[in-house]
Amino acid sequence: MKISPVEDLFSIFNETAAILQEELSITYLEALAETGENLFQQSILQEGLSELTVKRLKKSYDSFQLSKYPKEEIRKSFQLAALKGMKESVQPNHQMTPDTVGMLIGYLVSKFVDSSPIRLLDPAVGTGNLLTTVINQQTNKTVEGIGVDIDDLLVKLAYVNANLQEHPLQLFNQDSLEALFIDPVDAIVSDLPVGYYPNDAGASQYKLKSDEGHSYAHHLFIEQSVNYSKDGGYLFLVIPNGLFESKEAPKLHEYLQEHVYIQAILQLPSTMFRNKDSMKSILILQKKGAEAKQPKQVLLVNLPSLSIATEVDKILRKIDQWIVENK
Ligand code: SAM
Repeated sequence: MKISPVEDLFSIFNETAAILQEELSITYLEALAETGENLFQQSILQEGLSELTVKRLKKSYDSFQLSKYPKEEIRKSFQLAALKGMKESVQPNHQMTPDTVGMLIGYLVSKFVDSSPIRLLDPAVGTGNLLTTVINQQTNKTVEGIGVDIDDLLVKLAYVNANLQEHPLQLFNQDSLEALFIDPVDAIVSDLPVGYYPNDAGASQYKLKSDEGHSYAHHLFIEQSVNYSKDGGYLFLVIPNGLFESKEAPKLHEYLQEHVYIQAILQLPSTMFRNKDSMKSILILQKKGAEAKQPKQVLLVNLPSLSIATEVDKILRKIDQWIVENK
């Protein structure tokens, strides 16, 4: 049986991560970041490894030639290894964005955002899987990618992931709901963390803070994303389906009315989620500005299972048609 390049690369990541995990007594995800950095730097950076381990690592690394692989194959194989590591240690809210969602957002970005270069920010960048999936789809445009995440291990994985794909991302390890040291961007893509934001003092700076108790992090993330968008900039946000039904929803509605034009809500297929409460949608917004305009009609789509190609084709054609009529 022929081994695909993705399987081939995955086994290099997987075997060498497992070796480092055991020798350094670290988690698989930490070891994946270490081995990714070794592969990128083409040297073994960890000190104090046994001779045998160095030999075993070298043997795997010698069979690897980064320039041989297209960026998407590198991303996919790194994603498989990260998924394996996440099963062991990552909390559900920090999960990587699935490929199908990333591909769809990549398509939408290519259709909605005309500027080149595109300054593209993900304020919850995690492993960088969503951001690099989107960047890899902007084939005729230059993208200046920026990512922020509060989790230092995930930022390290994003850094290694971006290096291996040769994307010069700017990455920040910080709370995205505090001040960001970046200029406004053309577009934002983000799979928002859902839940309560524990920092009430920080939340008090936001219009979307809750009147009592902790505020919803995902509401504050929407406001912060609007803050860091240029006028007329686009936002592509993965949101929980219940976003407009919570007790804080009226305030959110009012805020959105004032600052953005809602362009589209695409409900992701139920087959992607374990239960009804965890179902999500892609919300597309445009920040108001001289060039921005309200669409004649908000695009509302219930996405079919993304594995049925003919159904997906039909929906993409519907989206294309809507763009022709509304942009
Ligand atoms: N799109 C990412 C990927 O492909 O790996 C996954 C995003 S995950 C659903 C949500 C991310 O939000 C997690 O990586 C988590 O660490 C991050 N996060 C949660 N609260 C945050 C905060 N206050 N500031 C910055 N990042 C935060």
